[in-house]
Amino acid sequence: MLRLDQIDALISGNKWFKLRHHLEAAQAQSSEGVISLGGAHSNHLHALAAAGQRFGFATVGLLRGEAQHTPTTRDLEAWGMQLHWLGYGGYRLRHQADFWQPWLARYPGFYPVPEGGGGLAGALGCVELRAMAEAQLASIGWDDFDAWWLAVGTGTTLAGLVLAEAGRRQVYGASAVPPEHGVEQNLQQIFSQAEQTDQGYQLLEASRGGFAKVDTALTAFIGQAEQDGELPLEAIYTGKALMALRLYVVAGNVARGTRLLFVHTGGLQGRRATHPHLAGV
Ligand SMILES: *Cc1c(COP(=O)(O)O)cnc(C)c1O
Repeated sequence: MLRLDQIDALISGNKWFKLRHHLEAAQAQSSEGVISLGGAHSNHLHALAAAGQRFGFATVGLLRGEAQHTPTTRDLEAWGMQLHWLGYGGYRLRHQADFWQPWLARYPGFYPVPEGGGGLAGALGCVELRAMAEAQLASIGWDDFDAWWLAVGTGTTLAGLVLAEAGRRQVYGASAVPPEHGVEQNLQQIFSQAEQTDQGYQLLEASRGGFAKVDTALTAFIGQAEQDGELPLEAIYTGKALMALRLYVVAGNVARGTRLLFVHTGGLQGRRATHPHLAGV
């Protein structure tokens, strides 16, 4: 397991890798700050606000839904992120061409980062995960592992690994969102922007009835993983992805001796709201 949840106390998981090229572009343009969007428990906004506080740049967060206080939004505000609540209708307009215009008029010189740090820039930041993992695994003789397994939201992280592998290793994505969320389209868009033909990935449905839907089998699995291996998981992404892997192995889909690297994509800050009883672990 590649523990991206442990790379930093605050800027956790895959979100740092997805942000990296966006932040470098913002810096190269001498931007006044960075503006982005997400939900009230967003791991992406959490990492962005923490980075802004750490490295000294201004951040603005556009949030889905009506104003509310969550453990996440309290951190965002404590770290100096300026929050605006767009409602649900307003948030749905985020893909429209002129969406950013009024916000950039209000925050001139700010650099807009798409939802979740997505797009080709986000994927390119995840390309480096392959070299990072191989360098560390060499010391235990595991750098010739066979395949990757990770949770998928937008597919940006998976796309980065597929680009990095270019067909060498298989990349399994356990989707935390149902098919109508358009993961396949996101992937195709990133691959075409990167001018690479997609190859070597497999998407598996792992949303267990919908994004952020939590059932008792899942919470039991997460509780067990915590006890057995002292492995902290959250219910939205990593818990579903690891449970999907287990079901996949139990169903006989993985040949004996196969070496799989599971990417722990982080997200543990979100447990404070979804699993208050797990939050202190
Ligand atoms: C955002 C997130 C994901 C999804 O990453 P994508 O690049 O959007 O597919 C997976 N796991 C965790 C913990 C996340 O916060």
